[in-house]
Amino acid sequence: MARIIAVVNQKGGVGKTTTSVNLAASLAASGQRVLLVDIDPQGNATTGSGLDKKAVVRTVYQVLLGLGEAASVKAASEVGKYDVLPANRELAGAEIDLVDLPNREGRLKAALATIEDDYDFILIDCPPSLSLLTINGLVAAREVLIPMQCEYYALEGLSDLVGTIKRVRANLNGSLEIGGLLRTMYDPRNTLSQQVSAQLEQHFGDKVFKTLVPRNIRLAEAPSYGMPALVLDRASKGAQAYIALAAEMLAPALPLRTAP
Ligand code: ATP
Ligand code: MG
Repeated sequence: MARIIAVVNQKGGVGKTTTSVNLAASLAASGQRVLLVDIDPQGNATTGSGLDKKAVVRTVYQVLLGLGEAASVKAASEVGKYDVLPANRELAGAEIDLVDLPNREGRLKAALATIEDDYDFILIDCPPSLSLLTINGLVAAREVLIPMQCEYYALEGLSDLVGTIKRVRANLNGSLEIGGLLRTMYDPRNTLSQQVSAQLEQHFGDKVFKTLVPRNIRLAEAPSYGMPALVLDRASKGAQAYIALAAEMLAPALPLRTAP
């Protein structure tokens, strides 16, 4: 059974796609079989994996509408050593096209069920909204990974997201868990970052990943080369952070500490 992880935050530009692409590459580099599902019409995870989003003929859009099988639509990221269910602007129409279809929230889940056994990890890069596409991601997933910047408004947005996750768990997907919160673009010299980071640890405890992703130019540059940072510059602090995150996710869960 694959670990199916939705990378979600309705706030834009917090590092969802950077996390999806670089975590996919890091897990693949540790020998895991990985599928990256792009369900954002921006198609940034597709481009960042080295695929030309304008040239892909069939995408996750056809899969969601039942016009294509996931197994035949998926493409290989040669640079990343993982598979991709690509997306492009066509997906923007899906919100409307899905509305009248049966099982509109569960269509991605049904599609992934047909290929799940081929993978150890399936990462779903969601758009910056709590739209029907994101709901499809949350229904298909068993874990939610929430990338966030340690800013003042980050915590405010987080309560909306946690509320949505609770509603999805209650109504559509009883097995959904918060897999973890990931602090991205972290600047340890910034006092506000430190404060927000401490508050996160206080509220969410061991749901906060120990790995901190620093602000790093290589992570920002890599998409323009169509490759994960790991391939562009493995030694960079950004690539190393995602390698550490993959290791943290692969480590067996530590037994709960009991009081003496
Ligand atoms: P959207 O909500 O639009 O989908 P997103 O949450 O997927 O955005 P990204 O696209 O991953 O966010 O990141 C936003 C911008 O910040 C991009 O230009 C990306 O290259 C840059 N970025 C992300 N993480 C880092 C980092 N750790 N260091 C430096 N730049 C980063
Ligand atoms: Mg994105």
